[in-house]
Amino acid sequence: MDEFTPSHVYFVGAGPGDPELITLKGYRLLSKAEVVIYAGSLINPALLDYCQPSAKCVDSAALNLGQIIELMVSSVREGKLVVRLQTGDLALYGSIREQGEELAKQGIGFRSIAGVSSFLGAAAELGAEYTVPEVAQSLIITRMAGRTPTPELESLERFAAHQTSMAIFLSVQGIDAVVDKLLTGGYCRETPIAVVYKATWPECQVVKGTLSDIADQVKAAGINKTALILVGRFLGDEYHYSKLYDAEFSHEYRQV
Ligand code: SAH
Repeated sequence: MDEFTPSHVYFVGAGPGDPELITLKGYRLLSKAEVVIYAGSLINPALLDYCQPSAKCVDSAALNLGQIIELMVSSVREGKLVVRLQTGDLALYGSIREQGEELAKQGIGFRSIAGVSSFLGAAAELGAEYTVPEVAQSLIITRMAGRTPTPELESLERFAAHQTSMAIFLSVQGIDAVVDKLLTGGYCRETPIAVVYKATWPECQVVKGTLSDIADQVKAAGINKTALILVGRFLGDEYHYSKLYDAEFSHEYRQV
């Protein structure tokens, strides 16, 4: 088992919300941490129950990058075990690169502890599989351009041309525009689509429909943040059994 060293900052993926969906390593770090800086807008506060009562838990929502770094640096210099707790997994829309660069300037390294991303939590809520044999074998993870632009080659329209499974982050507030772009790009109006609000939280809401009616349903449900838009025929009725478990299909581990 790893021993944790207070000379680094530990970036921990908190999972999508359910406090049981953090990794054991993340849990162990939280239970030992002396300073925890968590993204309050998205982190389930129940995760902080894993911390010692003496731990200093700070919501980063009101802090800017400089203030977050200063808190990390001063705490590490005091010899404290510092955890930066972020939603889902760190590798998607996690801004860990800029935090890592700023820490490096102060001579402090970081380690990342993987988490369960919300696109996986959302699929679990639906009991769905993004990759369905002969229907969709790829998943596009993206967002609509907002205040943060996306490269032109990564527009929703261009991705829609593939008509495969898509998980769209950070975009539900613009559901009308998302639907327009998906239709312009190539999906037909009957394509199934689901919006999952707060996947794996007790207050999770799932709205299902097609590209024709989803925008109205999402607005009627009052969903305008903390949601994923999942689109593609993987949500539809067509599926084919996989070859892997087919009794007529031999492979390395099993002969017909
Ligand atoms: N690193 C995170 C994503 C951070 S960006 C991850 O791996 O999930 C924040 C966006 O993630 C939100 O706007 C929303 O689109 C999505 N999100 C995060 N938690 C979610 C949840 N529990 N249910 C649905 N969407 C969620």
